[in-house]
Amino acid sequence: MYNNFQSYLQTTLKEIEEAGLYKNERVIVSPQRAAIKVSTGKDVLNFCANNYLGLSDNQELIDAAKKALDERGFGMSSVRFICGTQDLHKELEQKIAEFFGTEDTILYAACFDANGGVFEPLFTEEDAIISDALNHASIIDGVRLCKAKRYRYSNANMEELEECLKQAQAQRYRVIVTDGVFSMDGNVCPLDQIHALAEKYNAMVMVDESHSAGVVGQTGRGTTELHNLRGKIEIITGTLGKAFGGAIGGFTTGKKEIIAMLRQRSRPYLFSNSIPPMVAAAGCAMFDMMARTNELQDKLHANTEYFVAQMKAAGFDIKPTQSAICAVMLYDAKLSQQMAEKLLDEGIYVVGFYYPVVPKDQARIRVQISAGHEREHLDKAIAAFTKIGKELGVIK
Ligand SMILES: *Cc1c(COP(=O)(O)O)cnc(C)c1O
Repeated sequence: MYNNFQSYLQTTLKEIEEAGLYKNERVIVSPQRAAIKVSTGKDVLNFCANNYLGLSDNQELIDAAKKALDERGFGMSSVRFICGTQDLHKELEQKIAEFFGTEDTILYAACFDANGGVFEPLFTEEDAIISDALNHASIIDGVRLCKAKRYRYSNANMEELEECLKQAQAQRYRVIVTDGVFSMDGNVCPLDQIHALAEKYNAMVMVDESHSAGVVGQTGRGTTELHNLRGKIEIITGTLGKAFGGAIGGFTTGKKEIIAMLRQRSRPYLFSNSIPPMVAAAGCAMFDMMARTNELQDKLHANTEYFVAQMKAAGFDIKPTQSAICAVMLYDAKLSQQMAEKLLDEGIYVVGFYYPVVPKDQARIRVQISAGHEREHLDKAIAAFTKIGKELGVIK
């Protein structure tokens, strides 16, 4: 049997490679941070991590993790409801709720699991899920696991959303689902308009704050802060794997009855391990830090503003962004790959994206800014972009 299957896999892998879609991984041999070393021995500046607040190698979090490792051991060896809950997990859930201004929180091993386990326990074939076309893969998968009627509107298109809501009056309960920040463009969802439409058409709202928590809003509380909707959104999901230290872990936070139902019925919670004590402890230390100071958010916002302004001044076409994601538009797929490669030679690690990850003829380099970047890092990146941009005829 395997012989046939093996040749099938080999053929498919070759097709992926020939289509130029084969994903090769670059190996980092230093901690994750602004300046990293890769396995070729090269030192590069990292502009493609989700390390928005620069916390991946933060000493306070490392110390909190080490302390928990000594005091609470390595792993939990259990799901939460059997014997996998420490005080640290409860504490972290509470702190997440305080951060977002919500009623309660349930932790998952990842946001992929939070999104995978949020729909099926709450909604049935009588209900409607109305989803932005650019929502994250984990939302799409989560919706697939649920029997609710599906509606889809194109990215941030409020006329289409309204049309979906009109049709969805036929269902019992309605929920509108959106990413907070869309990862390829860096645009924030129009949560104010979504919320207004939800009120008008009697729907609930769910926002995935994975790329927006810690980033968007003056204090980084996410899209609900930006749009003055704290406490008004029924369901928020998010990750501890991006701005919040970048280790592992996800959560759903929101109305307490929703969270209570998820604890009873959400399959990735009931049938999968909880996060290790050291990650929960570091998470607690991280939210304490967020409550104490706004230094990192301020630095991130200043860094992003500076980078975008300088890149525009250099002549680059940057997608309007309200996050720490800057899409440098090149339109041509091959050019995006060429440019990323040349930038790496200059010591700037960025990734070029092209179809099918982004729409056809919308190829770009995505730059992700961090509070871990110093001004000199940004200047070096801008200089390298300018040099290579001129070389390749992208700018004059
Ligand atoms: C990264 C991301 C996830 C997945 O988060 P993990 O915790 O890494 O599983 C889910 N949703 C969105 C919008 C994301 O950007």
